[in-house]
Amino acid sequence: MSGRSSASLEEALRFRRAMAVTETVSYQPGSVFPLCPQCGIPLEREYQGFCDRCGQKLELEGAVFK
Ligand SMILES: [Zn+2]
Repeated sequence: MSGRSSASLEEALRFRRAMAVTETVSYQPGSVFPLCPQCGIPLEREYQGFCDRCGQKLELEGAVFK
């Protein structure tokens, strides 16, 4: 009873805590998309606060987009 509930709580907290975006993908020159650190999909907007797919909160301050 305790193990499973605490694991899901950790999971919930992990999604609420912002994860730094460290990886980007470029499909064409001058067009760079950040990758969600949780599920790995490219984010459509460069500075959105949450992932569209998994709902991961994103920390974009300090991320470098070249
Ligand atoms: Zn995601």
